[in-house]
Amino acid sequence: MPQAGCYCANCGSARTDPSRRRLVTCLGLVDHATRQSWLIDATPDFREQLHALHSLVPCPLTGVVLTHAHIGHYAGLVHLGREAWGTGDLPVYASPRMANFLRHHAPWSQLVAMRNIELRLLTPGGETRLSPNLHLTAFRVPHRDEFTDTLAFVVRGPTRRLFYCPDIDTWDRWEHDLRSFVADMDVALLDATFFSADELPGRDLSQIPHPLATDTARRLAGVDCDVRLVHLNHSNPLHRSGPERDWLAARGISVGSFGERWRL
Ligand SMILES: [Zn+2]
Ligand SMILES: [Zn+2]
Ligand SMILES: [Zn+2]
Repeated sequence: MPQAGCYCANCGSARTDPSRRRLVTCLGLVDHATRQSWLIDATPDFREQLHALHSLVPCPLTGVVLTHAHIGHYAGLVHLGREAWGTGDLPVYASPRMANFLRHHAPWSQLVAMRNIELRLLTPGGETRLSPNLHLTAFRVPHRDEFTDTLAFVVRGPTRRLFYCPDIDTWDRWEHDLRSFVADMDVALLDATFFSADELPGRDLSQIPHPLATDTARRLAGVDCDVRLVHLNHSNPLHRSGPERDWLAARGISVGSFGERWRL
């Protein structure tokens, strides 16, 4: 935020006041013991996010983990090619469909052919060891699959577990019950693209379905987990303080913010 071509209240105030700008949703992982780090999703803000991660924790980028092929989640891979950083065999974890998509479509295929990246397949349900202290489990979630399927992740550290699900069409079509799944987690960062169904005049929200933040909050009110809503569309009133944020807080749920950290 601001989004190109948009002059809504949030985008307008983000243009006049740079402190109101927001980067695309992204999560960094760090193993302090081995001095390794990963980014979940390579967003269009990859440069700033890599820098932010490494200003907090100076250690090399060990790999990138991808959820799916919508622009907010993988377009940042362009920074890895020879026109830019030119990484060598950087591990990129993805579902088999996502990996196939990258392998067979330019410009991503060049990253594979020139060995800037090395694709590593994630099998949903199976746990992948990123490092001695960090383990990753992928879960397939229902989401518009124009190009690929979509994954959400559980990251397991030595003592705590975090669930990261930035995109899903609806909790009802997921194979897990949201409330009991989240109750087993210590932290959950969840898709809150839209607060209400009428916030994008002129766009048919059934074509871009997401659980409304109000629906997610009702399902999770009072759950024993640190729940943060993330992946807010520029139109979302949760970007600013007001009655919508207060309504959420009354249910024990808050909005994620840049630079927040959790120890796992
Ligand atoms: Zn806007
Ligand atoms: Zn998406
Ligand atoms: Zn998205």
